Amino acid sequence: MDTLTLIGATGTPLPPVFHARHLIAGRFCDSADGAVLERVSPAHGTVVSRAAKGATAEVDAAVSAARAAFAGWAATSGKARAAILLRVADLIEANVERMTLLECLETGKPITQARGEVSGSADLWRYAAALARTQKGDSHNTLGPDMLGVVLKEPRGVVSVITPWNFPIWILSQKLPFALAAGCTCVVKPSELTPSTTAMLGELLGEAGLPAGVVNIVLGLGQPVGARMVSHPEVDMVTFTGSSAVGRAIAAEAGKSLKKVALELGGKNPQVIFPDADLESAADAVTFGIYFNAGECCNSGSRIIVHADIAEAFVARVVALSRKVAFGDPLHPDTQVGAIVTPEHRSKIDAHVRAAEQAGARVVLGGAPLQVQGLSGQFYAPTVVTGVTADMAIAREEVFGPVLSVLTFRTLDEAIELANDAAYGLSAGVWSENVHTCLAFGQRVRAGTVWTNTWMDGFPEVTFGGMKQSGLGREIGSYGLEEFLEVKSLVMRVGRTRAPWVKAI
Ligand code: NAD
Repeated sequence: MDTLTLIGATGTPLPPVFHARHLIAGRFCDSADGAVLERVSPAHGTVVSRAAKGATAEVDAAVSAARAAFAGWAATSGKARAAILLRVADLIEANVERMTLLECLETGKPITQARGEVSGSADLWRYAAALARTQKGDSHNTLGPDMLGVVLKEPRGVVSVITPWNFPIWILSQKLPFALAAGCTCVVKPSELTPSTTAMLGELLGEAGLPAGVVNIVLGLGQPVGARMVSHPEVDMVTFTGSSAVGRAIAAEAGKSLKKVALELGGKNPQVIFPDADLESAADAVTFGIYFNAGECCNSGSRIIVHADIAEAFVARVVALSRKVAFGDPLHPDTQVGAIVTPEHRSKIDAHVRAAEQAGARVVLGGAPLQVQGLSGQFYAPTVVTGVTADMAIAREEVFGPVLSVLTFRTLDEAIELANDAAYGLSAGVWSENVHTCLAFGQRVRAGTVWTNTWMDGFPEVTFGGMKQSGLGREIGSYGLEEFLEVKSLVMRVGRTRAPWVKAI
């Protein structure tokens, strides 16, 4: 352990506790009963925010406000919607430092990474603004001279937006501006662990000129707030990012009223490494893929499938790189990996590693909680587990921590079979200099995103989403907008050419 790269407490004074409140019908408010939830910094162990803890009454008020605002927002031109979304993007950029600090303190992620995510989220708002002006339907003028068919795209209505704790502002920005670009009105619930940057964004929406009620924010727990946002009869659609277990519960509840659902869920994402790959790049990307966001990432590259001939040398390379990754105080600008979100989650990560050992796998690096000098929060060591076989839980379940599982293969067919041998299908990667290998893998792997000779590169233009247990529907890109649109066919007769159906007998 002492050969790891650790960054102790910076001693930077923490900012005053942030007070996050609901946003309902354009007004910020506390809960009717005054209930609050406190969030403790995962790294520093001190309270950093206090958020209103909502109940059914706040959700009902928020849904009513969104319903009341819907007709006006749906009738707003794409140009006017885009202008507001662009102003929001500018305001995010103007508030980057304020939002970055809270994002870092509530999630435990490094400040440099948090800054990248907050400022990067502005680009998602700008891209969605472009879609607001360019969305369109279809026309059919090949139906005969007296017929014209027009396919219209209309906003779905009131959308519940439910987000997780691992990328609070980023994931919200993969959903909210797209829903707004489509003309929907929204009720948003961030994770109870990371409410602050969503509440801050609420302030910016008003400043940008978004009419009251178009976006409402209710803070609080999954039960009752999230659950009511799903079951409420006036909600037309639910877009959710989070665990597969909660996703399934949401789909079941939404099914009762046949609401549209879009689900972005977990992953057990494989990277296959062939002997002819640029192994230096592959090892660096594997190291990035597993430790980025402390592995608390749906796209975590948590399984590598390495050709048996190079497995030992490749793992040695990854272990050597892992020792150089800077773990520690998220407030230090050089820190690359911060704290684990809660003590309970750290225990779960550790339990996965212990179970893997019991199943016969070998921990070749880490495998234990990490002490960081001067910090009372919870950290977990960079961990590499070898000798993993496809039947082991660590090869199949989402650990959501900095724990890499190593499997081996001999043939392309075997590699693809192993990659597909999981309930999830979010993302996958292949490393080879042979284009045919990459293409075969890309075509045959069951995953919503496939990276070849890279990992986790993403763009607002390129759609994202999961197959199998990783989700339903797509986000970002033009497909991300489509999720929030209903399709209506308008069939028109030109002239009085319709032959009567009722015949005079
Ligand atoms: P979670 O499912 O516990 O919670 C997500 C959100 O749902 C939170 O806001 C929570 O309060 C709310 N919620 C909980 N119970 C609910 C219920 N019954 N009804 C409605 N809402 C409810 O997930 P998490 O722990 O916050 O996030 C981690 C999970 O998210 C991981 O599984 C990860 O893979 C997944 N994730 C997926 C993506 C993706 O794009 N596919 C991205 C990030 C995270």
